[in-house]
Amino acid sequence: MSIVIDIRHLNKRFGNHEVLKDVNFQVKKGEVVTLIGSSGSGKSTLLRCINLLEIPTAGEIIFNGQNILDEKHDRKQYRTHLGMVFQQFNLFNNLDVLGNCTIGQIKVLKRSKEEAIKNAMKYLTVVGMDKFKHARPRQLSGGQKQRVAIARALAMDPEVMLFDEPTSALDPEMVGEVLKVMRDLANAGNTMLIVTHEMEFAREVSDRVVFMDKGVIVEEGPPEQVLVNPKHERTREFLRRTL
Ligand code: ADP
Ligand code: MG
Repeated sequence: MSIVIDIRHLNKRFGNHEVLKDVNFQVKKGEVVTLIGSSGSGKSTLLRCINLLEIPTAGEIIFNGQNILDEKHDRKQYRTHLGMVFQQFNLFNNLDVLGNCTIGQIKVLKRSKEEAIKNAMKYLTVVGMDKFKHARPRQLSGGQKQRVAIARALAMDPEVMLFDEPTSALDPEMVGEVLKVMRDLANAGNTMLIVTHEMEFAREVSDRVVFMDKGVIVEEGPPEQVLVNPKHERTREFLRRTL
């Protein structure tokens, strides 16, 4: 399998606070990698560095063989290859569902309106929100909003989908519908990097689980290893607190 994202010696500090310390890991094409760890361990910062919402202090991010931190690299172009789903949905409240799922395609990818609508409807159908194409975000439940946010990201046809705790802001009864969509995407062969606290989900869908603590990757491996037979005491302690 080819390596899509290759993180090398990544470091990020905010002032004197070193939030990511020599982080190294890879995501291969078609792989589902989940990132777990306590609050404040640097998971969001790592995802935000990968899509350049934050600029790393040091290290390399190699995407399909190219160092995207290189000054010469077109960062805007790079970011179109990544789909991001946030905890708080971040939908445009002044646009309806279809508008949310077409605006990026039209403005950033320069697709025609017709093409953008066709593609948006394809992914709204995948997440089961096609019937709501004219709804406004405020008329939707949290679970529905998150499914629209996933469709919006997919409609850009990204190479990698990044999820930052997509179910953490949801009422418990809505978590399942979002996890189901993500499970379907994982089974369909999408390349995904997911920050989550849903351990059962992580065990089920992940090819690899990465455990982070205080800005360091403590261990990584197949889910049955990291989640069932962890090598490190810090991982065991985290799992004891989580379960
Ligand atoms: P996680 O997602 O694992 O909960 P974060 O990546 O959000 O962790 O945060 C890791 C650490 O970095 C925290 O101590 C947090 O306060 C700090 N941090 C995150 N973003 C910023 C920022 N923009 N400025 C200063 N400190 C930040
Ligand atoms: Mg976070």
